[in-house]
Amino acid sequence: MSGIALFGGTFDPPHLGHRRLLETAIAAVIPDKTIVMPDRIPPHKQSDRIADTADRLEMCRIAFSEIPTVTVSDWELGREGKSYSIYTVRHLRELYPEGRLWFVMGSDMLLSFEKWFCWEELLTLCTPLCLARCTADAMAALAQSERLSKLTGINDAAKIVQASPLEISSTAVREMLYRGDLPDEYLDSEVLGYIREHGLYKNH
Ligand code: ATP
Repeated sequence: MSGIALFGGTFDPPHLGHRRLLETAIAAVIPDKTIVMPDRIPPHKQSDRIADTADRLEMCRIAFSEIPTVTVSDWELGREGKSYSIYTVRHLRELYPEGRLWFVMGSDMLLSFEKWFCWEELLTLCTPLCLARCTADAMAALAQSERLSKLTGINDAAKIVQASPLEISSTAVREMLYRGDLPDEYLDSEVLGYIREHGLYKNH
């Protein structure tokens, strides 16, 4: 296979679950190019517990840029106005009109896909490439893919890749760091080094 893969997220911080997802997705479709794009955090979700934009971007570079085909993009971070995936996907479609555009995501995202802004248009422009975040989601993700196909008439509206999940979230990693625990099982050692060096996720 080939095409472009997009992997968006808050990455606050990027953890080994993200890495497992991305590497599994790349192995499944072998894209020509993979774009990791941290998204802008909407103001209503911001709090002083969230790392700032430059830190999230740099942690993504540390966590992902050595994976073959990957580049980390600041395109969404630099945009004004509302941050919806459809804008990013339309932009990438203009840049790369040929071939498939895979949208790499965890099962929580696929399972709530119909709530996304312009979700039907999204499915005409890209194909969700999904890995279950927990064992319980594996069947649900397959069922959701079939459901999206039925609703839109698009064959194989989403691709589900099978791999054992790494059950971790950035929220859980932040909580461990705030408690003073060491989440080294879930973080790349260089990302952990960056967090330490820059004093991120600390209770003041
Ligand atoms: P938070 O806990 O702050 O909400 P998160 O861990 O869910 O963060 P995001 O940056 O919001 O991470 O996620 C980016 C993408 O990675 C989403 O598509 C999400 O479903 C996926 N993802 C996150 N963690 C995992 C995981 N452990 N396994 C598979 N996919 C994951």
